[in-house]
Amino acid sequence: MRSTFLPFALPHIEEEEAAAVRECLLSGWLTTGPRVKQFEKQFAESVGCTHALAVNSATAAMHLVLEAIGLQPGDEVITTPYTFAATAEVVRYFGAKPVFVDVNADSFNLEPEQVERAITPQTRAILPVHIAGLPAELDAIYDIARRHNLMVIEDAAHAFPSQYKGRAIGARLESPLPRRAVCFSFYATKTITTGEGGMICTEDEALADRCRIMTLHGISRDAWKRYTAEGSWYYEVIAPGYKYNLTDMAASIGLVQLSKAERMRQRRADIAARFKNAFASRCEVQMPYERDDCLHAWHLFMLRLNLEQLNIGRAQFIQELKQRNIGTSVHFIPLHLQPYYRDLYGLKPDDLPVARREYEREISLPIYSKMSDADVQDVIDAVLETLNTFSKGEQSEPVVTVNTTVA
Ligand SMILES: *Cc1c(COP(=O)(O)O)cnc(C)c1O
Repeated sequence: MRSTFLPFALPHIEEEEAAAVRECLLSGWLTTGPRVKQFEKQFAESVGCTHALAVNSATAAMHLVLEAIGLQPGDEVITTPYTFAATAEVVRYFGAKPVFVDVNADSFNLEPEQVERAITPQTRAILPVHIAGLPAELDAIYDIARRHNLMVIEDAAHAFPSQYKGRAIGARLESPLPRRAVCFSFYATKTITTGEGGMICTEDEALADRCRIMTLHGISRDAWKRYTAEGSWYYEVIAPGYKYNLTDMAASIGLVQLSKAERMRQRRADIAARFKNAFASRCEVQMPYERDDCLHAWHLFMLRLNLEQLNIGRAQFIQELKQRNIGTSVHFIPLHLQPYYRDLYGLKPDDLPVARREYEREISLPIYSKMSDADVQDVIDAVLETLNTFSKGEQSEPVVTVNTTVA
């Protein structure tokens, strides 16, 4: 057994990031400035979007986008319960209603048919999450949005770099949808990090302009220009904006992380392949869903326990791994089970039966590029040992898993 605890997640920070921050600090320019501009430019090139606006979190990004579309109290935004608190709280900031619809049992992503069924005259937007880095059903979601004249905001907090049918998540659409944006997160444990940070990608110039103004106090020009030769002392406040700008210190980390994003993704994909190789034949677990027309960012490795094959529940499974010095997590406690949403909307656990059922058997394994081969093997050994100890049955025939693609 390994002698030290393997954390569930760690950022991949090396000397290069440290040197970039040091250089930024000594440059004297700490807040939003040339490094943020450079980060936005390179991120836009990387995903192929028209406008990229750096902010200090994905939560801020989604808040700004909803402000820009003028979300009103009583409006509805259709979203998934299978996500982090941020996805729905931004809707509540406006007194609007997040309408949770159930997820697909294989992918954990929004079920388009459920989305269509939930549309009312109050619906303004659809807010899908690309969970774990596996793209949501974008063709179907955009088709619904076009037919019903709805905005789409993609919560892409897990999805850099992911691809849907050969196109990067965040890339501009071939046939643009008005009022559409994709929001990324650079939180410490996401696939690339700036400590805290986020990015708004959109082809909608008016939306990008409004977000940029509201990012910094509703001031109608970029603050940093005021202090440079090309700027002047004059500015105008046109709305009660926010303080959501990214710092140049953060962007200097982001630029280095961006340059190694593909290498880090490849490493996570290798780890995922090793897990699948080790566990795919075990009847006590179910492998994460994949589809061959999508590139998975592998932000999370969402294993599922077939609890009827085990003598222990999920909580003890987590405990067993912890005793073997392996950190794990659970993604996510569905939002309709959380006291705030449960009580506000009178939601019952089985209102969204798939989300509830799949959550109860989910366990996320460590998958980050900083893990060594020995770390990966330790996770595999700990999981196999736990399965062998607590499996109910005689080991059944290896299950042949078919990699199905959703139409
Ligand atoms: C992390 C996360 C967010 C929030 O990102 P921040 O940058 O921390 O605001 C939003 N949605 C999902 C699905 C996340 O996992």
